[in-house]
Amino acid sequence: MGWTTTVVGSFPLKDNLENMEIGLKAQIDTGIEYPCYPQLVPMIDQFLDPIVAMDIGLVKRKGRFYLESDQLELPKDPFALEYGKFIIEFFKNNPDYRNRIKGWKACLTGPFTLASEIIIPEDSVPKPQISLFKDTTAILSYEMVMQLAKMMSRIAAEYNKMGADIISMDEPMLGIIVGRKMYYHSEEEALSIINEAVSSISCNSSVHVCGRIAPKLRDILLQSNVNIMDHEMTSGHNKKLFDKETLEQYNKSLAWGVLQTQIQWAPDSTPDTYIESVTQIKDSIQEAVDQVGKENLILKPDCGFAPLLSIFGEEMGMKIVNGKLRNLVQAKKEIE
Ligand SMILES: [Zn+2]
Repeated sequence: MGWTTTVVGSFPLKDNLENMEIGLKAQIDTGIEYPCYPQLVPMIDQFLDPIVAMDIGLVKRKGRFYLESDQLELPKDPFALEYGKFIIEFFKNNPDYRNRIKGWKACLTGPFTLASEIIIPEDSVPKPQISLFKDTTAILSYEMVMQLAKMMSRIAAEYNKMGADIISMDEPMLGIIVGRKMYYHSEEEALSIINEAVSSISCNSSVHVCGRIAPKLRDILLQSNVNIMDHEMTSGHNKKLFDKETLEQYNKSLAWGVLQTQIQWAPDSTPDTYIESVTQIKDSIQEAVDQVGKENLILKPDCGFAPLLSIFGEEMGMKIVNGKLRNLVQAKKEIE
């Protein structure tokens, strides 16, 4: 899968059905070929809130998740499927929109990232000498991360059945833990967790890790069964990590961020202040094409657009998003 367009998943909209439709239509109207269901709830809450509601040992206090026992109990049945059901319902009611896209994407949250937000009892795992984190979390336990991988795999299986074309495990936490000294799991363990999480996906599996990618993390992901590696590129840190030969050797597509999503507010600004021009995006795309080849390349924003909500509000936030996506599609068209 290559030379196409998608998004990471979140949008600067409050969570309600009307906004889900606005977020999805915005992607299709701007010409994105593989839109994602708009992720309007925080990526952790999306999967941990339902577990709290099941009352099986995970509780939420002041917005943080705590495990009340030494054992992590997780639901056996898949849940958080309403986002896929929304997509199916939307396309049933709007077949014209379905005909304009190549397929759709589901963004799920990966096991390392979920584990890093589950605070567990202090003495339930051996503590590392130095820790990146103040709290003792489930990320320190290989077994717990693996349990979460299996749970996410059961959820991914349902999205696969619903007809998703790309299913992503979003793992910002992997970028933080791999490649540093304070890495808790061996490379073999990390690889088996990643492979478990994507094991039920027969369409295109993807892993999104933003921020700076360590060469070690790149190598683990290259060796994994994941089809698409999805990274932030506008910052420049990750550009030189990839080449055409290696991607093809490992049979990977690279989802390359050509739109900035970490935006600082500027005084006297209009939406245009924050929207990359078609020329600018064409330059970024050309650089990516020269490095890894059109056929291995998926074009997309660096990360999700949710952070724009608190800076700009919904209306201006969506103007910026629409402008960025429209220019991305135009820039790709001009290169073809
Ligand atoms: Zn991200």
